[in-house]
Amino acid sequence: MIGAIEGGGTKFVCGIGTEDGKMLERVSIPTSSPEATLDEAMAFFEGKGIGAIGIGTFGPIVVDPRSPDYGSVAATPKPGWSGYRIIDHVKLRFDVPVGFDTDVNAAALGEATWGAAAGLGSCLYMTVGTGIGAGAVSAGRLVRGLTHPEMGHITVRRHPEDRFAGSCPFHGDCFEGLASGPAIERRWGMKASELALDHPAWEMESDYIAQALIQYILILSPEKIMLGGGVMNQSHLFPTIRDKVRARLNGYVEHPALAADIDSYIVPPALGGSAGLSGALALAVQAASSPLAKGR
Ligand code: ADP
Ligand code: ZN
Repeated sequence: MIGAIEGGGTKFVCGIGTEDGKMLERVSIPTSSPEATLDEAMAFFEGKGIGAIGIGTFGPIVVDPRSPDYGSVAATPKPGWSGYRIIDHVKLRFDVPVGFDTDVNAAALGEATWGAAAGLGSCLYMTVGTGIGAGAVSAGRLVRGLTHPEMGHITVRRHPEDRFAGSCPFHGDCFEGLASGPAIERRWGMKASELALDHPAWEMESDYIAQALIQYILILSPEKIMLGGGVMNQSHLFPTIRDKVRARLNGYVEHPALAADIDSYIVPPALGGSAGLSGALALAVQAASSPLAKGR
């Protein structure tokens, strides 16, 4: 049995599953203090014969195994969580291999293993919600380096009609600052879910998302792109985004995925809202099969 944790700002979803991606049981725990939240998660796993645990969590987090702070939360405004050593808490209760990564990296790995990108060596998963983040798989591995990528904070060209300053506390009008759910809501003064289908908000939103996707396509060349998160509940955004990606690339990258086949290239996650939890399961499987597993 494998334990999976999808750690979010409002809830921690825990699941117990098998190596082939089947989720047998799950529970949702409201996010409170790190101690209380993780105690509850560990209690759920207790006595279930757990042989590995995977954690995909909100960040920023320290994902470099060489860092003394590996497995902890970096500076976050969330009370009590800054510096909290998640892996240490888990290891105290379960002496098993633990996989640890961001929620979006987990979702990307989940989709690559059991979802829309299964069988492909590369893909990109992006969430457009309270924040914007993306995870990429390349040559079968999650892209990591100094730390995890922060693809939501890239620079985009401002839409000519956009007068909103941007909501990112670090960069103002970076991609997330212009296109996250809260950015849409502050710009137009109403809930994103209540904006009419023909509201100019959506043309602007799809313009920003298309710009970002083009940069990811040009730099990473992913074989499949999955778009999730609350804002992508506006499913009419998909065709508009595909049209804009195609138009802006203007035939430069010659591939059917960016022309006739674009409808099956930029898609919603096949695992839907379960991508993150399934990905946490995949992180555990990877950790258990890693040659480093014994040392962690
Ligand atoms: P989180 O990013 O916090 O994990 P979500 O991905 O659900 O959670 O994103 C929540 C944000 O998405 C909300 O703040 C809201 O701005 C936006 N959102 C949620 N539902 C919709 C919807 N139906 N249409 C447009 N925007 C939505
Ligand atoms: Zn930013």
